[in-house]
Amino acid sequence: MENIKRGLLIIISGPSGVGKGTIRKEIMDDETLNLAYSVSMTTRKIRDGEIDGKDYYFVSNEEFDRNIKEDNLLEWAEFVGNKYGTLKSEIERLRNLGKNVLLEIEVNGTKQVLQKCQGDDVLSIFLIPPSLEELENRIRARSTESEEAIQKRLAKAEKELKMQGDYKYVVLNDDRHRAANEIKTIIRQNIVKN
Ligand code: 5GP
Repeated sequence: MENIKRGLLIIISGPSGVGKGTIRKEIMDDETLNLAYSVSMTTRKIRDGEIDGKDYYFVSNEEFDRNIKEDNLLEWAEFVGNKYGTLKSEIERLRNLGKNVLLEIEVNGTKQVLQKCQGDDVLSIFLIPPSLEELENRIRARSTESEEAIQKRLAKAEKELKMQGDYKYVVLNDDRHRAANEIKTIIRQNIVKN
């Protein structure tokens, strides 16, 4: 049987509203990168336009806690009152198929992955906004959340920006096509190394 080369684990992180989702979709469209997206589990309410099983697995608090207890999560974190986590099974299945697996997660989850996967092929990328004002505009533009939740996301963003030193690459999202191209180049270089 042909030996399949295990794929890379690629973490894309950055403050809420920085444009991770948009850039992720643009990168995923490039078939030459052989990417697969790891769908996370969350207790957050589903937003308009989101699809269960595609954007997230939307679950109850009880179901999330059961997954923690059963050690099914590679990492998990609480973010503005909701839990988010990465399923080990999802990652393993895709990497063993040779796919380079993309995780879109926040900073505390990244710390856990970097700790657990030392020596493994992990690539960490942090996206930064041109300014905090621009970030606030983006959060407000897309948000369906209360003013209180928006304020919490903004306060969290300032803290998250301070963690960019944990990442191997920092990419400025001044323009989504430019930023996506920069990330594609980074991934391509690391696939070659791998
Ligand atoms: P949102 O509610 O805007 O979809 O996500 C809130 C934050 O949670 C974002 O920074 C997003 O990247 C992060 N996030 C999404 N899935 C996961 C996950 O599985 N683990 C962790 N640690 N963070 C996640």
